[in-house]
Amino acid sequence: MTLLVLDAVARQYSARRGAFARPVPVRAVDGVSLRLDRGRTLGLVGESGCGKSTTGRVALGLEPPDAGTVRFGRALMPRVGTTAWRSLRARMQLVPQDPLGALDRRMTIAAQVAEPLAIHGLPGSGDRVKALLAQVGLRPDQGAHHPHTLSGGQRQRAVLARALATDPDLLVLDEPVSALDVSIQAGIVNLLMDLQAARGLAMLFISHDLKVVRQVSHEVAVMYLGRIVEQGDPDAVFSDPVHPYARALVSAVPVPRPQGAPGRVPRIILHGDPPNPANRPAGCAFHPRCAAALPLCRVDDPTLKPMPDGRLVACHVAHGDAQSRAGSMAA
Ligand code: SF4
Repeated sequence: MTLLVLDAVARQYSARRGAFARPVPVRAVDGVSLRLDRGRTLGLVGESGCGKSTTGRVALGLEPPDAGTVRFGRALMPRVGTTAWRSLRARMQLVPQDPLGALDRRMTIAAQVAEPLAIHGLPGSGDRVKALLAQVGLRPDQGAHHPHTLSGGQRQRAVLARALATDPDLLVLDEPVSALDVSIQAGIVNLLMDLQAARGLAMLFISHDLKVVRQVSHEVAVMYLGRIVEQGDPDAVFSDPVHPYARALVSAVPVPRPQGAPGRVPRIILHGDPPNPANRPAGCAFHPRCAAALPLCRVDDPTLKPMPDGRLVACHVAHGDAQSRAGSMAA
């Protein structure tokens, strides 16, 4: 059953390039459409600054879209701060990257796990808090600790316990294991998958770590400069990416691939930094860095369209647009 739908969502900021410069609009998210079902995980990947975190915040209603719509369940996402939004808020929670920053150093873990229950007027007790701590693999006595006395992994478990306190349907996890040692990451990833199986949680999993995303996701979307450029089954996208940007991302990391999948994508070095979103290149925004770019790519912006295997890709070359365009021009 579908829980969250983003339809052609855009989110724009104003940014200045200098103290006296005029503010210019920056499209952090530009026409993103996503659908997330209960019990499923959608992985959102891409370089830092590509719009992943803003998409997550818009999905939670923390930021309103400037265009497009967000639906949670059957209803349009209410405006942040309204009574309707606050009552929905219990059903959707954010798990941020930095657990120490997310926790209050002055409060015990138990008090912080109990806090959302009080905020949302839900019945809470010491037993409820202990049960939540147990669900995330913390001992009851660790509830009496302050955040700085716990390890990074234990702190992230505490953040998860607090997020689960209101029994949410949706978790938006923004780089939830990036701040942790690799040895600790596996425990948190396994915990997330167990919690999903037990509670039927929907998860929007934002990360630049393709290996982790590959492990947890039922579907994956690759973002570049505020847009999705490839989206589909993780086996397909990580084994044989089609969009040149997705190929470059995947080529940089040995992501485990299923049996019978094509061999590893040869290493592709991307030249240059991502363009400034305030000055988006004409045509395909990836064309200044794309080795496969054709003249068409400099003038015509490709749309996200289905490939024969069902995945969505925004690339003229992948869809043979250049040949069909040249054919129609020659006719
Ligand atoms: Fe590269 Fe052109 Fe495809 Fe963009 S549309 S990714 S520039 S080949």
